Amino acid sequence: MKQYEARMGLEVHVELKTASKLFCGCRAAFGGTANTQVCPVCLGYPGALPVVNRHATELAVAIGLALGCDIARVSRFDRKNYFYPDNPQNYQITQWYLPIATNGSVSIETESGEKKIRIRQMHMEEDAGKLVHEDGQTRIDYNRSGIPLVEIVTEPDFSTGEEVIAFLEKLRLRIQYLGASDCRMQEGSLRVDVNLSVRECGSSALGVRTEMKNLNSFRSVLLAIEQEEKRQIAVLEAGGAIVQETRRWLEQENTSVAMRKKETAGEYRYFPDPDLPPLIVDRELLEKVAKKRPEFREEKIERYKAEYGLSGYDAVILTSSVQLATLFEETTAICKEPKEVSNWLMTETQRLLREQGQDAEDLSVAPEALATLIFYIKEGKINRTIAKEVYEKVFLERVDPETYIRANGLFMEESADILEETAWLVLKECKKSVEDYRAGKEKALGFLVGQMMKRLGGKANPARVTECLRKCLQIDGAGKE
Ligand code: ADP
Ligand code: MG
Ligand code: ZN
Repeated sequence: MKQYEARMGLEVHVELKTASKLFCGCRAAFGGTANTQVCPVCLGYPGALPVVNRHATELAVAIGLALGCDIARVSRFDRKNYFYPDNPQNYQITQWYLPIATNGSVSIETESGEKKIRIRQMHMEEDAGKLVHEDGQTRIDYNRSGIPLVEIVTEPDFSTGEEVIAFLEKLRLRIQYLGASDCRMQEGSLRVDVNLSVRECGSSALGVRTEMKNLNSFRSVLLAIEQEEKRQIAVLEAGGAIVQETRRWLEQENTSVAMRKKETAGEYRYFPDPDLPPLIVDRELLEKVAKKRPEFREEKIERYKAEYGLSGYDAVILTSSVQLATLFEETTAICKEPKEVSNWLMTETQRLLREQGQDAEDLSVAPEALATLIFYIKEGKINRTIAKEVYEKVFLERVDPETYIRANGLFMEESADILEETAWLVLKECKKSVEDYRAGKEKALGFLVGQMMKRLGGKANPARVTECLRKCLQIDGAGKE
């Protein structure tokens, strides 16, 4: 058998997180009742005129800059003409001739070192409505019609599925840090089409490619790549030819099927949208976007190491989601205990996320709550075991730590009277240990401390308990009637 290698290029759609749609004032929020977020513009009524959402342009520019692209000071909107029920205008407004961003790159870590993935272009466009197939019927929800998107197109620079995932993870996180999109694949705010071809090793020309759609998770992306590479090699090995087509990934069946022959650009009859003026990105907008640029993950990692003395490993995990990094930074700002905060996020928080089957994205712990627990431990008001118990409640039920600890009587026993009273009781009960201690067996003291902690329900500071016991043991008559 001949040796083959795969090549892949991506088309990534990202829904921008704006309050309203790209060309009208309709709400852009996800999940509203079907067809309640619509108007004549996004329903394609004759005579309705589009106006560009400036915030969408800002977010697009921010993403373009974050991908190292050149930003076009003047770009244009074009009409891509086709009929489909989810497309009420019979054309999609997109950017074909002059996209807003071109010529960028993103580097990824691969097994054989750093690799640069070239970004060919990024353009702005509007989303289509959504077909809902249910009970043997198909309905249409136009709430999504007109939501702003950017489409990021890479060069065919990927040679493995792992590289594709590394790129997508980096891209997603960077866009999330920008606050430009939620990038939730399950909700469709991040959608990835994979173009894939194979060729004989050593050949310099690319093979004929297919495009795969309907990939709803990174796992599907990986599986689809694996399968499509195998399928294409099998076709070529059998003496056949690859048909340039669009294929649909079937999640349940773990396989893809041909959907339609790939259209060519000419078939869409692109032409500049006469209703929209050129899109100008002026200096003012560029400066505004540059000023708002957040710290990226790589920069955070370095700062966490330098400023807080965290290990590289911890810094990598803490920056792996915006929610985690934000919780870390906000809690540290309150309690000024970066290592302690990091420990809570690296151990207890990870454990709870795992147990609950949640992602860091779902985190809803209030920084004030975690900081309070850390304060209490430091001041000896609660011990670690109890702090973990309370943190679980904070994590799961968002309780207020102080109220919860008070209501459940979990603060440490601080009263010297109660400590002493308990000590005498324990000494009376454990005569043997008292004798042992007097005979010079230090170990006996440990047992007595344990007994006292038990009586106090664990809510005491072991150091103070030990001290109190020692004091009582010095008094003659301890352990006697
Ligand atoms: P179209 O305009 O027909 O969609 P493009 O040239 O814009 O095609 O490419 C779309 C995507 O497909 C890009 O991400 C590109 O990198 C990728 N691509 C193009 N040709 C190939 C190929 N032969 N093998 C793998 N990927 C390819
Ligand atoms: Mg394309
Ligand atoms: Zn509208």
